[in-house]
Amino acid sequence: MNFLEERILRDGVVREGNVLKVDSFLNHQMDIELFDEIGKEFKKRFKDCDINKIITIEASGIGIACVAAKHFGVPVVFAKKSKSINIEGDVYMAEVESFTHKCKNQVVVSKSFLNSDDRVLIIDDFLANGCALQGLISIVNDAGAKVEGIGIVIEKGFQNGGRTIRNLGYHLESLAIVESMDAEKSTVTFADQEEYK
Ligand code: 5GP
Repeated sequence: MNFLEERILRDGVVREGNVLKVDSFLNHQMDIELFDEIGKEFKKRFKDCDINKIITIEASGIGIACVAAKHFGVPVVFAKKSKSINIEGDVYMAEVESFTHKCKNQVVVSKSFLNSDDRVLIIDDFLANGCALQGLISIVNDAGAKVEGIGIVIEKGFQNGGRTIRNLGYHLESLAIVESMDAEKSTVTFADQEEYK
């Protein structure tokens, strides 16, 4: 079991509706020592990739991406959520349905901060159905930039996002892959990551 899986077992809480709460260390209160380990691990897993920018999505991805960026020595751009239908200005835009909030957001990235020279690592906290990732991928593609890799902290392997993204040929690395979880029994099991390569 790796450092993250141990932490999930210790402090994660399983909620009804396939939601894993990790807000005591990942996406509300944030354990920066843990973030540093996560950043180090992403750097190890993407060591052969030529990355010049990290992209994530507001809000939970930002802290993780920033600490990871220290290990890559690159800037972070986050896709901003915007409720407005008519988005002004020069932006790349995608529509993303929130798994946890069940609403649709438009997310935007300014054309000033993403262009066809960029080689991007996409980072996010969770991967469930893959909607957030598909939105970020489409923004990177619209810019003519290249997705060098995708780093996810927690993938829920029993939802279909990871399979879809891997089938599209992307280099996706998830630091913990939840195989199953049970809210009533308060249990979480992890998948063998070798099986997801
Ligand atoms: P997807 O777009 O892959 O369906 O969902 C990914 C997004 O939904 C992540 O950015 C994350 O914020 C949120 N999310 C999905 N599943 C969970 C979960 O089990 N727990 C928490 N805390 N967030 C989740």
